[in-house]
Amino acid sequence: VNPIDISPEEFRLLSESILTIATDYLKEVNARGIPASGRGIEVERIFRTPLPEIGLPQQAIGKLGDVIQHSRAQNGRFFAYVLGSGEPAAAAADLLCSVLNQNVTAWRSSPAAVTIEQTVVGWLAQALACGNFRGILTGGGSAANLMGLAMAREAKVSANNIGLRPETALTVYASTEVHMSIPKAIALLGIGRDNLRLISVDDSYRIIPQQLEHALRLDKERGLIPIAVVGSAGTVNTGAIDPLSDLAEIAAKHKAWFHIDGAYGALAAMAAPEKFHGMDRADSISLDPHKWLYQPIDCGCLLYRDPAAAHRAFAQGAEYVRPLSGDALESFCFFDESFELSRRFRALKLWFSLQYHGFSAFRKSIEKDLRHAQRLAASINKNAQLQLLAPVELSVVCFRYLGNEKLSEFELNQLNNEILQRVIRRGHVYLSNATLQSKFCLRACIVNHRTTDADIDSICAEVLAAAQELQANPNL
Ligand SMILES: *Cc1c(COP(=O)(O)O)cnc(C)c1O
Repeated sequence: VNPIDISPEEFRLLSESILTIATDYLKEVNARGIPASGRGIEVERIFRTPLPEIGLPQQAIGKLGDVIQHSRAQNGRFFAYVLGSGEPAAAAADLLCSVLNQNVTAWRSSPAAVTIEQTVVGWLAQALACGNFRGILTGGGSAANLMGLAMAREAKVSANNIGLRPETALTVYASTEVHMSIPKAIALLGIGRDNLRLISVDDSYRIIPQQLEHALRLDKERGLIPIAVVGSAGTVNTGAIDPLSDLAEIAAKHKAWFHIDGAYGALAAMAAPEKFHGMDRADSISLDPHKWLYQPIDCGCLLYRDPAAAHRAFAQGAEYVRPLSGDALESFCFFDESFELSRRFRALKLWFSLQYHGFSAFRKSIEKDLRHAQRLAASINKNAQLQLLAPVELSVVCFRYLGNEKLSEFELNQLNNEILQRVIRRGHVYLSNATLQSKFCLRACIVNHRTTDADIDSICAEVLAAAQELQANPNL
């Protein structure tokens, strides 16, 4: 026998011990402190071990406890960045994904997996009132944004064969609040970051359409080729949603591709569709089920209106992948609509989790996140020592501690930076930061199915406690 071949019975025992570890983690996650324990040097000592030439099964299992110990706990009081909360029913199904080991390249390689991915992507499109879109699951919003912009580039100037000509300068437009994955994609696609026009935003951090229009006209007069307008449906800083209908109008007028980065916010259209008018007019939309559908990482998605545009960007005929069947369903290939060939069966966890709980449960949970953000904003507004720093459109709340004395902007920035570090060290709630109009903000982003009203109320309490601690003991 092959030395790495384990019996089904050994697999069962092994899975059960891992399951026990995972279940114990879930039992204690809400009571635990959030930050991972240990400094860099300690974590190195534990994990940077010599190459294991000989197998040591019990030791391998034993070390899983260390992994948990030195991982950040994602409980209901984790509000940093935009991080979904890892829905456990999906996690359970994810084990089967690895056991089945389907390669979701094409129908002939994985009929069930391909059909399930198409189905689940169709459900997502339908849930966002974009039922006529097709799409694909990705590793995340960054990959989805890259793919959307690759389609845009190839749709507007065909460069896959001849390359980008130095004399044709292409431009892309987005607001100053755009996520970093967009300039990154533009760099990778050879368009050049300098050709990303960052358009000003209004007081609500939404792109100003007149300024976009102005920039487009100016560039066209100079002979540049505007290929895409990127709208944010939920900016990462404040959750602002660009005026999508206006952007659709402007993009159409200038024959530019309209891509929406909805990695953070698009799925909130399930609960608040009125905020997303014009989303169905996009050419492509990225969204992240691993954020606001609470799926375990990774699970991103790109929706697109025209599968032919995906083919133009990604299809690359090769004899070894040529479909053998002429049947429309059976000859379907995801690799003609993606830069990836081998792809894991991401759809399984999502499909399972959506069926297990039903869309209504997810809609209610998103509604709860939206309500929680308003609850937090209300308690900030009620407290004279705290100040809200941006409108709360979705589930991001940006605020700061003012205190009772009159401090300069510089002092407030420093103080809030220290408060943030202290809040995190206290371990009870976890926030991140943003800088808005040169003001350092404490930032809570609520995309968390575990969060309770009490968890929300602990945010202000923790910030005030941290500030008090700092005043009493500034050097600690
Ligand atoms: C998170 C995020 C991304 C990137 O998505 P990943 O899944 O982290 O790759 C892009 N845009 C916005 C607005 C985001 O919030």
